Amino acid sequence: MAVVRKILSLAGDGIGPEVMAATRKVMDWVQSTGHVKFEVTEGLIGGASYDVHKVPLTDATIAQAKTSDAVLLACIGGPQYDTLAYELRPERGLLRLRKEMGLFANLRPAIVMEALATASSLKAELVRNLDIMIVRELIGGVYFGEPRGIEDLPGIGRRGFNTQVYSTPEIIRVARAAFELARKRGKKLCSVDKANVLESSVVWRDEVTKLHKAEYSDIDLSHMYVDNCAMQLVRNPKQFDVIVTDNLFGDILSDLASMMTGSLGMLPSASLGAADANGRQAALYEPVHGSAPDIAGKGIANPLAMITSFNMMLRYSFSMGAEADLIDKAMQNVLSAGVRTADIVEPGQKPVGTLEMADAVVAELKRLAK
Ligand code: NAD
Repeated sequence: MAVVRKILSLAGDGIGPEVMAATRKVMDWVQSTGHVKFEVTEGLIGGASYDVHKVPLTDATIAQAKTSDAVLLACIGGPQYDTLAYELRPERGLLRLRKEMGLFANLRPAIVMEALATASSLKAELVRNLDIMIVRELIGGVYFGEPRGIEDLPGIGRRGFNTQVYSTPEIIRVARAAFELARKRGKKLCSVDKANVLESSVVWRDEVTKLHKAEYSDIDLSHMYVDNCAMQLVRNPKQFDVIVTDNLFGDILSDLASMMTGSLGMLPSASLGAADANGRQAALYEPVHGSAPDIAGKGIANPLAMITSFNMMLRYSFSMGAEADLIDKAMQNVLSAGVRTADIVEPGQKPVGTLEMADAVVAELKRLAK
């Protein structure tokens, strides 16, 4: 009998509904294999929610997110909402959702498919078949630490200040998520900090080391200072498997790593929280890109970041690694055959639209599954 999985789908704004519709085609194919039944509820977030409810996220949508097995979100934002009060802006809806769901670990893979190696900003041989995962702590550190503020310094000007702070439980929960991932991948974890300068990093390094010794001695753990990590990522990125780091360093390193992969239209992410009493882990899957107002409504957006986000959902929330591998293979084959949306098209190729790309992936899935 098929297992039932409850998904909350939040298409959001701009190209969101277009890339979500494309992803539903792949979702339907997975469902047609008969192993799983997706119960999909559609909700509103961002500007789409503001237009109807005058807030970027309602309590009812948060409640739906908390009772779903996983949330699939496209993107939010648009110029028409830029003049709204801070609390009503689309991104506040997204930040609130992440906070309410307690999503402390942000997973950003940087994968370079063979067919797109030449689209990278680095030399093709450095990134060909690259597959690394950056795990960023998402709800702690200097972005949330207190005290923070801006104060007047009479006669001098002003002083802006923030607090970089990490406690043992905050470090352990994200490190555990990273060790678990490493265990499912290449069994290598690099913890990135600035322990030569920051006390918060000294605690970070100690706690990661203790957890490694106590529970994860099968994983090859290394430590690296963040400045060195930035250099190593552009010098020899394939030396890494999983990287775990704090909120600030992760923000910067994950964007740096993502640019090696060519286009924003290819980049997925997952954000994970704690598991409940039944072992169900809070999880939100979303592409890295925004709502792309410049191309919204034209049917030309690349749906692969959204489809890959759904693929991460299969892998990490539903333990459907075999199906996820097949979808990865189908996307690679389609790209190798020269089927490209406008953002990744090469000279001489004719770009396809959003739905055509999804149709090509589904057709390839059907062929591979025969
Ligand atoms: P963006 O990611 O929306 O677009 C940047 C550029 O990349 C644009 O030229 C766009 O056309 C292109 N692009 C993005 N996704 C694409 C795709 N799937 N296929 C093809 N091309 C794609 O970033 P932006 O322009 O800085 O922001 C636009 C809006 O999105 C803003 O309101 C911003 O606040 C919001 N935003 C939302 C998120 C999110 O939902 N997580 C993230 C970033 C920005």
